[in-house]
Amino acid sequence: MMQVPLTVGSILEHAETFFSKKEVISQTHDKLHRLNYGEIGQRTRRLMSVLHELGIQKGDRVGTLAWNHHRHLEVYFAAPGMGAVLHTINIRLSPEHVIYIINHAEDKVLFIDEDILPLIEKIQDHLTTVEAFVVMTDKAELPESNLTPLYSYEELLITGDPSHSFTTDINENEPAGMCYTSATTGNPKGVVYSHRGIVLHSYALGLADTAAISESDVSMPVVPQFHVNAWGTPFACTWFGTTQVMPGPRFTPKRLAEFIERFHVTITAGVPTIWLGLLREIEQGDYDLSSLRAVLCGGSAAPLGLIKAFEQKHNIPFYHAYGATETTPLVTLSRLKSYQQNFSDEEKLKERARQGILVPGLEMKVVGDHGEIEWNGQEMGELLLRGPWIASEYYKDVRTEQAFVDGWFHTGDVVTVDEEGTIQIVDRTKDLIKSGGEWISSVEIENAIMTHHAVFEASVVAIPDAEWQERPIACVVLHEDFVDKINKEDILEFLKPQFAKWWLPDDVLFMNEIPKTSVGKFLKRQLREEVKEHFSI
Ligand code: ADP
Repeated sequence: MMQVPLTVGSILEHAETFFSKKEVISQTHDKLHRLNYGEIGQRTRRLMSVLHELGIQKGDRVGTLAWNHHRHLEVYFAAPGMGAVLHTINIRLSPEHVIYIINHAEDKVLFIDEDILPLIEKIQDHLTTVEAFVVMTDKAELPESNLTPLYSYEELLITGDPSHSFTTDINENEPAGMCYTSATTGNPKGVVYSHRGIVLHSYALGLADTAAISESDVSMPVVPQFHVNAWGTPFACTWFGTTQVMPGPRFTPKRLAEFIERFHVTITAGVPTIWLGLLREIEQGDYDLSSLRAVLCGGSAAPLGLIKAFEQKHNIPFYHAYGATETTPLVTLSRLKSYQQNFSDEEKLKERARQGILVPGLEMKVVGDHGEIEWNGQEMGELLLRGPWIASEYYKDVRTEQAFVDGWFHTGDVVTVDEEGTIQIVDRTKDLIKSGGEWISSVEIENAIMTHHAVFEASVVAIPDAEWQERPIACVVLHEDFVDKINKEDILEFLKPQFAKWWLPDDVLFMNEIPKTSVGKFLKRQLREEVKEHFSI
């Protein structure tokens, strides 16, 4: 067979050639834009020529601090398309971490959304490698700023060459992108994506038994473009000629519901907290969301109650997927096999709430205290992964040695696997609760609590215990109508039939909000501190 390199640039070239009329609909600060792939292609070519003018060379890192919109999509293709590296930066991290990430990646140019300029202005003196700042604004004039040199994205594009070519001088194993994942302690860890990894991962998103993204879809990524490349969907969608709806900066559940209705969105992707918010919105408002054929949910465990509400109450198909920054990210997706279709509704839901089976192309191994575990749905072990879109190291980081051993990525996720090969994430190794020498899964308890009709969200953490070593405490946020009407006993009674006695939380704390990470996951580190403070530990 021919040795033809798989490159990110060729993804957009394909869209320009075959889907030039298909659209990207994009909300920015000031307006809604509609561009087709022909126009996106030309603008990306202009951008590549401009980046050359700015001195960007092969292998240089191009940083972005931006929301989901068409300009960000253009940088997605311009940087790798010229052999440089797209580096998406999580704008919700602390300024210290943003400084670390930019300096560690040695970004040469930064593309910044207008509302994020103040953050960069404050830290610019600490940035050691950045030579130019480009503001992605709709306005004709540059905003007031002390960043230098500062360019306007649209003004630069005018000077660019619309026929500039994508470089062919690329080995498919060379870096196309990079993204940092937050660590529990210490600085964020960098993951580099190769051209080959991104292209193969895009194929995986198109498979009928995974996300099945196709030309006829209208895709709205709610997961940020700075969070594992919006789970790779912008690459796959561009390749397949899918219409894309980019919800832009600081979107609300209302905007999401309106966009789904207005643009007939068929597939959308995000973390559970986003879908909890959307659920609340659609239960209050009057929206027609019948175009939706798939809501993809990942990043943390999708509570069974959430899946049930979407599917049974609103008739919206909901798919639970699992992955990580190190895995580009798609690893598993939960779908019933043909012979599982005759399960009862309850069994089906239970099955779908698990994380699912491995997508084709990847390999897994689950290792417990005594080697590989048995696939019986009971034994627990750490999930190890291998495959063409799984990272093989952290970028210039000694922590590589702990996570990448003998050719396997150690995910830090503890799972069970049943006879079907379906995995269930029991917990992250660091969040498991050890009580009397046995493990308790915080995730299983919190998911069960979240199926209670009065509960909006819940998280379970451990507190130290003199007798048992650790004990679980449940933190619960009630739906507004139930505040002060539900007590600790109600929650514990609800859990009793579902768990062994020693798994039941020692206490239930009612809160207004559960602290969350920059990408909307429960921030258990902080929650543990709050709980300890509550008990004066
Ligand atoms: P961070 O470590 O900053 O949360 P990632 O966004 O890369 O970074 O998160 C990856 C982790 O998120 C996984 O290792 C796993 O613990 C968790 N995760 C992702 N998807 C799921 C899911 N469907 N169910 C449970 N946990 C999940």
